[in-house]
Amino acid sequence: MNKIVQQFLAEVDQRNQHQPEFMQAVTEVAETVIPYIVQHDIYYGQNILMRIVEPERVVSFRVAWIDDKEEIQVNRGYRIEMNSAIGPYKGGLRFHPSVNLSILKFLAFEQVFKNSLTTLPMGGGKGGSDFDPKGKTDTEVMRFCQSFMTELFRHIGPNRDIPAGDIGVGSREIGYMFGQYKRLKNEFTGVLTGKGMSWGGSLIRPEATGYGTVYFAEEMLAHQNTSMEGKVVVISGSGNVAQYAAEKCIQIKAKVVTLSDSSGYVYDPEGIDEEKLQFVMELKNVKRQRISAYVEKYPKAQFHAKKNPWEVPCDIALPCATQNELHETDAKMLVKNGCICVCEGANMPCTPEAISYLQNNNVSYAPGKASNAGGVAVSGLEMAQNSLRYSWTRSEVDERLKAIMQDIHKSCLDYGKEKNGVNYVKGANIAGFVKVADAMLAQGVV
Ligand code: NDP
Repeated sequence: MNKIVQQFLAEVDQRNQHQPEFMQAVTEVAETVIPYIVQHDIYYGQNILMRIVEPERVVSFRVAWIDDKEEIQVNRGYRIEMNSAIGPYKGGLRFHPSVNLSILKFLAFEQVFKNSLTTLPMGGGKGGSDFDPKGKTDTEVMRFCQSFMTELFRHIGPNRDIPAGDIGVGSREIGYMFGQYKRLKNEFTGVLTGKGMSWGGSLIRPEATGYGTVYFAEEMLAHQNTSMEGKVVVISGSGNVAQYAAEKCIQIKAKVVTLSDSSGYVYDPEGIDEEKLQFVMELKNVKRQRISAYVEKYPKAQFHAKKNPWEVPCDIALPCATQNELHETDAKMLVKNGCICVCEGANMPCTPEAISYLQNNNVSYAPGKASNAGGVAVSGLEMAQNSLRYSWTRSEVDERLKAIMQDIHKSCLDYGKEKNGVNYVKGANIAGFVKVADAMLAQGVV
């Protein structure tokens, strides 16, 4: 078996050189899905995984724009249309200086499995730019977004490819891009999700990824006959996902003690309550400042520069910042401090070595493609509401979100139960694969 997996990976690597993040994501899937393919005649011999790892289309384009000093800036834009077997391409846009083909292809690949797990009819895609919104004025961000959409608009559409937000793309950026799309196409359609409430957005979409991650963690704990109540939670990041993961934890009476950004983390031993979280939301979403300002307002908290929060003792860790932010040494620290559950809010935040260590030390670990699928699930619900020209209430959307997260957890159990516990990686990969592969086989060799 190992030989088949290695041969497959060598071939993929040959075609995708210098794409480490993409190979990391493919390796994780290949190791769990190839043994399943080999045991099932309908998939074996169809070269189905090789077809899934090859994007249907990759678009790369120039984004030229003028900054406030009237200097011309040039960035690179991308859209990866990975797989449309079960629905139109769907996945976020990331604006961050680290963005490159490898990162977007890993995200698009993961998105295919994640969207399949939601049970909604959405294919997988991802896009973005190496543009850094940090330190830019609103008008600079607007000019960049308009230029970006002036090329992207010809590749997307409400039945074709529906982008959303991701790192560096929040409601402000979605608004500017939607405005430009509408102007270019002269039509009002649900071409982006994460829209404002008064122009086609869904209630609970801003909260969905963070809330969904916590709903998933609750399922994991319930499976171990315990609950989140009273547990100490360490969260990384302080953006969209981290903020709403923290909010849901507070609501269900777990104690959140950390948040972070790329400059370091804050540790508040008394716990981050609703009022303190409101301060963080204002700080990050409106003032767009660094998390270190937290300790100026709340001096009993500590700021640890250039560090991540995994050294803080906790019961539950929710990595909600970025890929490969939790390494094996961090996993060792978490295990040593008694952590029982690591549930990913970000995409691929744990390195493969960290995942193995957690799994081998009886920590319940969930990969982002399962546990953070709540964001895209509510994006799917936003698309449904746009088509119906109707809005569901907050509680209706929240109930659907919760039910979807419970269903995803059940799918992970169906395919990932092992003698000594649940292998959520295996469960998520196989459950996500089966639906996409079945659709691809039914649609012929395309
Ligand atoms: P935001 O841009 O809102 O926040 C990102 C947070 O992560 C910020 O606090 C940021 O700090 C921190 N961060 C980013 N890059 C790094 C880095 N290299 N090192 C340390 N910290 C970093 O993004 P989101 O909250 O939307 O996304 C967070 C993660 O969740 C990503 O992995 C994303 O792909 C994933 N995700 C998001 C979904 C969504 O609906 N938004 C859906 C599913 C997954 P700083 O401000 O200093 O850069």
